[in-house]
Amino acid sequence: MSESTIPYKIYLKENDMPRQWYNMRADMKNKPAPLLNPETHEPMTAEELSAVFCEELVKQELNDSDRYIDIPREIRDFYKMYRPSPLVRAYCLEKKLATPAKIYYKFEGNNTSGSHKLNSAIAQAYYAKKQGLKGVTTETGAGQWGTALSMACAYLELDCQVYMVKVSYEQKPFRREVMRTYGAAVTPSPSATTAVGRRILAEHPGTTGSLGCAISEAVEAAASQEGYRYVLGSVLNQVMLHQSVIGMETKAALDQYKIVPDIIIGCAGGGSNLGGLIAPFMGEKLRGEKNYRFIAVEPASCPSLTRGRFAYDFCDTGKVCPLAKMYTLGSGFIPSANHSGGLRYHGMSSTLSQLYHDGYMEAVSVEQTSVFEAAKEFARVEGILPAPESSHAIRVAVDEALRCKESGEEKTIVFGLTGTGYFDMTAYEKFNNGEMHDYIPSEEELKRGLAGIPRFPGNE
Ligand SMILES: *Cc1c(COP(=O)(O)O)cnc(C)c1O
Repeated sequence: MSESTIPYKIYLKENDMPRQWYNMRADMKNKPAPLLNPETHEPMTAEELSAVFCEELVKQELNDSDRYIDIPREIRDFYKMYRPSPLVRAYCLEKKLATPAKIYYKFEGNNTSGSHKLNSAIAQAYYAKKQGLKGVTTETGAGQWGTALSMACAYLELDCQVYMVKVSYEQKPFRREVMRTYGAAVTPSPSATTAVGRRILAEHPGTTGSLGCAISEAVEAAASQEGYRYVLGSVLNQVMLHQSVIGMETKAALDQYKIVPDIIIGCAGGGSNLGGLIAPFMGEKLRGEKNYRFIAVEPASCPSLTRGRFAYDFCDTGKVCPLAKMYTLGSGFIPSANHSGGLRYHGMSSTLSQLYHDGYMEAVSVEQTSVFEAAKEFARVEGILPAPESSHAIRVAVDEALRCKESGEEKTIVFGLTGTGYFDMTAYEKFNNGEMHDYIPSEEELKRGLAGIPRFPGNE
């Protein structure tokens, strides 16, 4: 196939959009470890999980065996409002870098929430509605997930209660107002509206909050109101499953032009966009059909894969959630004030953690000034103003492309451009003023976080 026949943007036809999600776990020899009851350390049963999550989502969470799961028609109809998303050939970036590498990015920022999170938000809201629930509760950090969920809930006429990390609530009033416009009730966390919030406030007066803490509050809020369940925007198996739509579309688009990627790169907060993007490709690798390099990119300030420990840990600060086996920095680890709110979680998806542990995936950490450097370069040639989170993937894609320039290799690189950065202009302002600092936690700081990982037989 000659170069010139590959368009700038490869769009699938609406009818070629995936009708099923792909469940990577079905092809894993070593399955991700099950969630454990924090009291008994026994695997969480469907019944226990159903007290917190919707029934259908519990089934998906526990399903390690079905390779494909049908996407209900109602969800596909919603997807059609903003999908298929384009796979863009970054011709301009390639030219700027003078690299022989071929760079593609899958752009998930073309919806009002500005990120891929809407792919799972609509699925979770749909199953909640189908179960006849009144509403859902959740946490949000920088606000992308809360925005996505409030959009999905507005569409399905479900009540939506969002606990927003206090520092973001104060610093990102615009995100908050988008959520309220879509009808969500937004509470800064920690708050006095929950017992766990009051406890955390008493222990840490003046705290600006964390994702782990907002999760504890949202879980409590769901458990204490009739007809409510808790939903989560990342980390869980069900979320990765929904996000597989990104990878399935990417693969279908590449297949149309017989393009085979060498390297697939994504930023990793809780792992959902990366897990979704790589899903069908990882499936081929797991089944021994093809080989690809997968690279997870995380901030140096919150390095769960590259410097964390693979162990069972709490998913939240208040320790009310089940234990998950994952690469973790400890549930008490509070990352420095970096500008990628979506990448500040202390842990990582169990599925991605297992794949990384088994050597199927690589991970690198990058510092934020170099990330914004890449973001600026990308925005100037490709036009899209990327989210700080997404820019982690840009940084490493650029680094890999520059490596190709040195070696003369014509590798094909695909990365996930998860969203746009219009609500992150304070971060861009810091960068543009030369006031952005890099922060790498010391061994001492990490030790303190890791010391909070629970000890019990089998988890020493
Ligand atoms: C939330 C978010 C991320 C990180 O979350 P994952 O679950 O790791 O994908 C990345 N990019 C954007 C734009 C986000 O909003």
